[in-house]
Amino acid sequence: MSAQPYVEPAIRTIVGAFIVACGALVYLKPEWLFLWLSVLLFVGFNLFQSGFTKFCMMEKMLRKLHFRSELDEIRTLNKANAEAEARAAFYDTLGLLNEVVIELSCDGKLAFLSDHWFKLLGCSHQNESQFIGRPFLSFINNHDRGALEILLSGLLEGYRETMSFRFRMFREDGQEHWVEGKFALYRKQGKVQGTRGVLRDVTDTHVQEKRITHMAMHDALTGLPNRMYLDERISEAIERSNIAASKFALLFIDLDNFKRINDLHGHKTGDQLLVRVSDILRATLRETDVLARWGGDEFVVLLPFQRNAEIVRKVVSKLMDKLQLELEAQQSGTFVTLSIGIAVYPDDAHTGEALLVQADKALFHAKSQGRNNIQMFGDLQTHTPGFEDVEMTSRFVAAVKENKLQVHYQPVMDAGDHKRIVSVEALARWHDDKYGWVSPATFIPLAENIGLINEAGRQVMEQALDHFSQCSGVCAGLKLAINVSKRQLMSVDFYPMLLDLVGRYGMSPTQIKLEITESIALDGIEQAKVYLQRLSDAGFTLSLDDFGTGFSSLSHVHELPLDEIKIDISFVRRIRTPEGAVLVKTIVDMGHAMQLALVAEGVEDLETATILQGMGVEMLQGYHFSRPMPKEECAGFIAGLRSALPDSVNAA
Ligand code: C2E
Ligand code: CA
Ligand code: CA
Repeated sequence: MSAQPYVEPAIRTIVGAFIVACGALVYLKPEWLFLWLSVLLFVGFNLFQSGFTKFCMMEKMLRKLHFRSELDEIRTLNKANAEAEARAAFYDTLGLLNEVVIELSCDGKLAFLSDHWFKLLGCSHQNESQFIGRPFLSFINNHDRGALEILLSGLLEGYRETMSFRFRMFREDGQEHWVEGKFALYRKQGKVQGTRGVLRDVTDTHVQEKRITHMAMHDALTGLPNRMYLDERISEAIERSNIAASKFALLFIDLDNFKRINDLHGHKTGDQLLVRVSDILRATLRETDVLARWGGDEFVVLLPFQRNAEIVRKVVSKLMDKLQLELEAQQSGTFVTLSIGIAVYPDDAHTGEALLVQADKALFHAKSQGRNNIQMFGDLQTHTPGFEDVEMTSRFVAAVKENKLQVHYQPVMDAGDHKRIVSVEALARWHDDKYGWVSPATFIPLAENIGLINEAGRQVMEQALDHFSQCSGVCAGLKLAINVSKRQLMSVDFYPMLLDLVGRYGMSPTQIKLEITESIALDGIEQAKVYLQRLSDAGFTLSLDDFGTGFSSLSHVHELPLDEIKIDISFVRRIRTPEGAVLVKTIVDMGHAMQLALVAEGVEDLETATILQGMGVEMLQGYHFSRPMPKEECAGFIAGLRSALPDSVNAA
């Protein structure tokens, strides 16, 4: 309200009467003029108070003296009432949302909060004054406070118009919960007033994501970190070694007679042995060392901060002795020996990947030396002339040059009846005279490393499109799924090349599904969105491959223009454990909530297929239905299935 004095009518009347009385006193005198002036003043005063003289001189004069009229008062009150009503309606609407709306002043203090704030903080009373004026950051966990502060000041300083961030807030009972906040600059008449934010409790989603990430990063049997986790630790170790000019060692450990134990005593005993080895290793290593299960009976150990290769050798041989002693003590009869291959950073390689390859080569050599053996890659290079195996690479380069890559196809089935094929996945194959069938898991990363992935990928695509267009009768209605690596997708030539090939073989993008790995989202969601949107607009179906292993946030997946997700084989394998079942169900439900179709890969038996179908997965792929096969065999498989089905099903 205004601080202008308001003249009460009674006072006005008294003042007016006083002036008239003064005038009357000089009634018969030449001061007539004075009387009229007084009367005029009185009338004017009253008219001003009642607002009729809004534009007259008197009004202006009185305003100069800082007086205001009743009408002014009424107008101010009406305006305030209208504003209060509009605000109340706005708050009522906010109350309907599950989110909290807040306003922060420029100095980060809470200026407004909607009703759900109290629910978000688990408050027993809805006492707004307890919060208004307090710094918003005081409710945020220490770990997230700094980052949020920087982001909020980035908004106020005009670096961006909006921002979102996930952070932890304290509830009234001291518990932490995860909140996703979206903030935007808040202006009034062009002037920055502070920020406005919408907060949403995402604790459940966050916990689920963490569980999925943990499972994706850890081996189910031993609970040890897996390759993905190891990759991250190796990258960190490289950074730290570079800063501290120190070395670190990577050990590849393999149980020599594991296969025999498995065959003789069964898988259960084999699994128990693996768990025991991992327990002993974990207990023997320092806390700063990293122990991961590589797969099968192979473990990898990262020993950070080593002074030189000789010390590494001593540490490892002690480790080996200890492990063997412990195993012998526990094993009662089963004799286990180990082979260990060691590579040292930066002596043997400069990247994590190359270092693993070198350690693996050292392990291979250790095994060839009669097992129960430790070998260091550095020694092999000096003592074994020509050890460095560049042969496979050069043979692969030649194979690509000579167009020798082949394509096999694996059907993807409708989960409803297990009999109808919905698509076929093209999988690259390379047969080498010396190495035999080399897995794409080996040669695709190799192709990426040596810059041949675009050419290799193009050859696979071209063959697949050629095969598919040739069998248009048998393959009618099916989709052709093609794997596309991140590097391929990000290459400038990819999109025009794909369109050109599709056109050349007389196919339509709607017949093609592109399987893209989840790591696409890791290097900036915005860029991935642009690439994928272009493909989606052209009519391609987009599938997110190996879902669950790329540890991308589910909220990111939500932002990409995808059509389906493929649940990774590692989750499908665990479906019969209670934890695995919950995880797969969570992925399925989340996928459906995002309106995505679900495909499960690696379905190896009927039981798994039935469980997945029961969970609502629409499509299934795996050895239970068929292994990947050459084109003729695949065409026969499709024709066989189609002839066994009534026409109405085929047409569906
Ligand atoms: P992916 O895309 O996840 O392909 C599925 C892999 O799982 C294939 O391995 C397939 O043979 C295997 N598989 C299918 N069903 C089962 C099952 O029931 N049990 C088990 N244990 N495995 C099953 P493959 O052919 O060795 O391919 C490995 C990976 O290599 C592929 O994984 C894909 O990421 C990559 N790849 C293959 N071909 C290409 C290609 O043309 N381009 C690109 N960029 N990557 C490719
Ligand atoms: Ca795939
Ligand atoms: Ca996959």
